[in-house]
Amino acid sequence: MTGAPDGRWIEVGDGVLARRHIELDLTTGLVLGAERALVVDTRGDDQQGAELAEAIRAVTALPLTVVITHAHFDHCFGTAAFLPCPVYAHPRCRAALVATAGAQRAEWATYYRDRGDPGTAAALAATDPPLPDHRVDREVSLDLGGRTVRLQHPGRGHTDHDVVVHVPDAAVVFAGDLVEQGAPPDLGDAVVADWPATLDALLALQPAVVVPGHGDPVDPAFVRAQRADLAEVAALHAAVAAGRIDTATAARRSPYPNLLWAAVDRGGR
Ligand SMILES: [Zn+2]
Repeated sequence: MTGAPDGRWIEVGDGVLARRHIELDLTTGLVLGAERALVVDTRGDDQQGAELAEAIRAVTALPLTVVITHAHFDHCFGTAAFLPCPVYAHPRCRAALVATAGAQRAEWATYYRDRGDPGTAAALAATDPPLPDHRVDREVSLDLGGRTVRLQHPGRGHTDHDVVVHVPDAAVVFAGDLVEQGAPPDLGDAVVADWPATLDALLALQPAVVVPGHGDPVDPAFVRAQRADLAEVAALHAAVAAGRIDTATAARRSPYPNLLWAAVDRGGR
């Protein structure tokens, strides 16, 4: 068994569901076609993935396809519960998983142990995330039966391999962590200079609803505001890199002062 359910469904379009999780305020997705269903992200360990798979099986018995928005553990370490099925991601997502899964597992298992959650720490420590086996270089169209969805890499931003899911007939975009509601965007692995233009590409899809990787679904105005904040951060990074201002000044001016410097310390990406 998979323990207590962690999540509730929100219908964001006809046959387009977002699932809100308590853990990390994560948001996953489910797009229903007539013949297949698409799962957007798989949660953070084998147990969480099993919980999500069970919740999805309560909604649909259709064959599943999985798409992973990016390689951070909370979005993709739960994939095993869905296999065998096609698992789509950007090729750099696969590479990032190969390179970082062990380090992510160690870092976050420690986080959960320190937080007094040995159960989640143990589940994570026991999880070896399956690798994606289908690639999204720029765009892949998936026919779910009566509905086509597009998996797209709109550019670099939260990571160098973000993939979004566009459901054109419902005007919904699942954005992964390119958009965050309820907390500032996470800049730790970000390509800050590219992020605003990547959000422009996302907005050009003309979504009515954007489902973030964490937090509640938002509208395009929310995304435009986050884009403006990220453009400020990108400009501050550039100013620091060019030696025009120091990091303390940039931090004071940043919309996200506590988060600014992780990315700069990684070489100003
Ligand atoms: Zn992330």
